[in-house]
Amino acid sequence: MRAHPSTTDLQAQDAAHHMHPFTDEAALAQKGARVIVKGEGVWLTDSDGRRMLDGMSGLWCVNIGHCRAELAEVAAAQMRDLAFSNTFFQTSHPPAIALAAKLAELAPGNLNHVFYSSSGSEANDTNIRLVRHYWACRGKPQKQVIISRKNAYHGSTVGSASLGGMAAMHAQGALPIPGIARIGQPHWYREGGNMTPEDFGKARARELEEAIHRIGPDSVAAFIAEPVQGAGGVIIPPDSYWPEITAICEAHDLLLIVDEVITGFGRTGNWFGSQTFDLKPDIMTIAKGLSSGYMPIGGSMISDEIADVVGQAGDFAHGYTYSGHPVAAAVALANLEILETENLIPRVRNHIGPYLGRTWEGLEDHPLVGRAETCGLMAALALTPDKARRAAFAADEGVVGEICRDRAFANDLVMRHVGDRMIIAPPLTITEEEVDELIRRACKALDETH
Ligand code: PLP
Repeated sequence: MRAHPSTTDLQAQDAAHHMHPFTDEAALAQKGARVIVKGEGVWLTDSDGRRMLDGMSGLWCVNIGHCRAELAEVAAAQMRDLAFSNTFFQTSHPPAIALAAKLAELAPGNLNHVFYSSSGSEANDTNIRLVRHYWACRGKPQKQVIISRKNAYHGSTVGSASLGGMAAMHAQGALPIPGIARIGQPHWYREGGNMTPEDFGKARARELEEAIHRIGPDSVAAFIAEPVQGAGGVIIPPDSYWPEITAICEAHDLLLIVDEVITGFGRTGNWFGSQTFDLKPDIMTIAKGLSSGYMPIGGSMISDEIADVVGQAGDFAHGYTYSGHPVAAAVALANLEILETENLIPRVRNHIGPYLGRTWEGLEDHPLVGRAETCGLMAALALTPDKARRAAFAADEGVVGEICRDRAFANDLVMRHVGDRMIIAPPLTITEEEVDELIRRACKALDETH
C-alpha cells in the first residue's frame, strides 16, 4: 500500500478544501472524515489501520469486491494502447465496440444498443432527451411527460434529480424541470394500512393509470422506475405490482424505462432486475456494477425499435466527452468477464442470496425490527417502535436510523439508513462467514440503538 499523510493531516485538508456530496459539512468538520485508504474483497481499511466490513459495496457498485488486480492490469494496458479517443463524429474504438456487443448479448429482450455515459445520472438525462426525441420522430411531439415515483432516486444532475422523487433534492436549485409527474411508491410496510400486500401493490400500480388519464394519454411519453427501489429504501414491490404496471404501459403506449443502476449486474440474482421481475424495458439505465465501480461508466440500453427510429432521423444532438471512454469500457468488459467466469450471479441466486435471506430474517426477532426483507443481495430492515401496528417513530423520520447507522459504523460495519430503514448491499463475492460477521455487527448496532 502506498504511503499517505497522517489521519490528522488528511482530515484537516479534507475539511479545508473538499466539499462532499450529500454531507452536512459543518458536522463533518467537527468530527473529521473517516479516510479510507485500502480495499480488499468485502473489506475496507481506514487511515488508522481499522478494518471495516463494507456492507454497501461502496455505493451499491463494487459487485466483484474491492481491488482485483486483474482490472488494474486491464486499465494499465488500455492506457498504454489508447488512453483516450472519443466516439463522436464517425469514430469508434475496440473497447467501446466489444462492450456494446457484450451488453447487447446480456440485456433482456431487444435492448441491442447502448448509448454510453460516465454515470447513472447522465444516462437518465440521456433517457429524458431520448424518449422525447423518439416521440417527436414518431410524429407525436406532444408526448413529453415522464412519470416516475415518489422518493425515487435517479441521479443528481438537473434532469435526473427532476426525474427522482426526493423532496429534499427538489427543495434546492429550483427543481423539478417541467414535464415530470409522480405516483406513489409500492412501500407496503409503511403505507399499506390494512390492505394485503397484493391489494396494495395493485392499488399503487393503478395510480399510474390514474395519472395517465389526468395528464392525457397523448401527452405521456414514458414511465421510469427501478425494479426494486434502492436509495428509496430497498422497497421490494408486492408480486402484484409489476404485472399491473407492465399492462398499463402497454395499454397506453408508454415507453418503460427500467433504471437498473443498482439492480443490474447480478444484484438481484440475475444479470438484471428486469429478468427477476419479468419486465420488458424499452430503455434500461445502467452504471455502477457495469464496471463494479472501478471506472466511472454508465449507459442507456435501447431497444431496436427506438434505435431504429432515432437512427433514421439524423443526428441525436447529445453526447459526453467520455461516452464510451476506452479505459472505462475495457475495465467494464473485464468486470463482466469476472462476473461470468466466476459464476457470481447464479451464486447470488442459488446460494449466497438465500443464505443472506435466511440469516437476515433472523433479525426480525430483535425488538426494534418490524420486518426484514431481501432480494438477492440487497436487504432492508424496517425499524419500528410497535411491530403489531407497523408504526413509525414519533421522533423525526430517520433519527433512529441515523443512530443505528452510526453505531454500525463505530462497530466497523458500513450499513446505510434511509429514514428508519437499515440497508445493506454487500459485494457479490461475500462468503457465508462474512455474512455471519455482517449480521453479528448489525445486531450489535441494533442493540446499541435500542
Ligand atoms: N439511478 C439509480 C437507481 C441510482 O441508485 C443512482 C445512484 O445511486 C443513479 C441513478 C445515479 O447514478 P450516478 O451516481 O452514477 O450518477
